[in-house]
Amino acid sequence: MGLLDKLVLATLPAIPRPIMRRFAARYIAGETVDEALEHLASLAARGHPGVIDILGEDVESEAEARAALAGYRDAADRVARQKLDAYVSIKPTHFGLRLSPDLAHELYSELLERCRELGQFARVEMEDHTTIDATLALFARLRERFDNVGIVLQSRLLRTLDDIDALGEVASDVRMVKGIYLEPPEIAHTDAQAIRDAFLACTERLFQRGHTVALATHDEHLAGRLLRLAADRGVDASRHYFEVLLGVQEPLWNRWRQSGNTVRVYVPYGLHWRAYSQRRMKKNPEILRHVMRGMLPW
Ligand SMILES: Cc1cc2nc3c(=O)[nH]c(=O)nc-3n(C[C@H](O)[C@H](O)[C@H](O)COP(=O)(O)OP(=O)(O)OC[C@H]3O[C@@H](n4cnc5c(N)ncnc54)[C@H](O)[C@@H]3O)c2cc1C
Repeated sequence: MGLLDKLVLATLPAIPRPIMRRFAARYIAGETVDEALEHLASLAARGHPGVIDILGEDVESEAEARAALAGYRDAADRVARQKLDAYVSIKPTHFGLRLSPDLAHELYSELLERCRELGQFARVEMEDHTTIDATLALFARLRERFDNVGIVLQSRLLRTLDDIDALGEVASDVRMVKGIYLEPPEIAHTDAQAIRDAFLACTERLFQRGHTVALATHDEHLAGRLLRLAADRGVDASRHYFEVLLGVQEPLWNRWRQSGNTVRVYVPYGLHWRAYSQRRMKKNPEILRHVMRGMLPW
């Protein structure tokens, strides 16, 4: 981490809440489900389906995990009532994975049952490498009972091609990402081009194995390579779509949509936006640089 990054990070907690809120507003829908639904409705009017994420991770008690479930159930119900095209996406440690894999399994199962009744999908997200084995085991257990569940895989990690092979014969909806957590070089690519190349290789393997792929990236050059790969391999357009983060690279979404691609927008909200944003920036200073660039008027 450079000196400037360190300085900015050290200053973040001292920035008054209203000012931080203004900066975060571009990336975070707000503190309540109502605010998230307003964003989803306005995105829907512009032709974008959505993804709902309640900010939170690493809960320290079962009560916190159960409160997260209640929030997600409410969000799924409200999406259905408003007839929006959006699904919920949950970090395993928000549902208590680190406390007890059985607790996380119980909470995901309850949510997935509700989503199934509502005709909705839901996704298990992927966190840092210390959680990956437990998350993949959780997903495998859920996938045995639920068709409406998907997973996330990270191209940064050297293990991901093997993880794709281990997903088994049943096709799923997999979100492919570069990976937001900076991981040790023994287990991860550290070079940006290697991470891109691995993204392409992982997507190709996912296509070969019949999965549908949510291409979650704002990297225009990589996206072009991914679309060419899909076309060259004759992968039906229904088996891939883009997923993007609220507030990031909007002109790109429009170009992709105008050329016939679905672009789903990830809408995070919740009371813990400040702590969450700061933790993310600390874990990966590249995000801090993206945000700082986003604040500049040019
Ligand atoms: C819908 C969605 C869900 C995700 N879920 C997960 C997950 O479950 N687990 C996980 O590890 N990672 C997840 N990620 C994050 C992902 O791993 C990457 O860290 C992130 O997408 C940035 O990589 P990129 O492919 O966009 O390429 P980059 O090369 O990082 O970015 C391309 C360009 O996009 C812009 N940009 C990218 N990110 C931001 C940002 N945050 N703010 C402002 N500008 C930005 C920059 O201008 C940059 O030049 C998710 C990403 C998306 C889009």
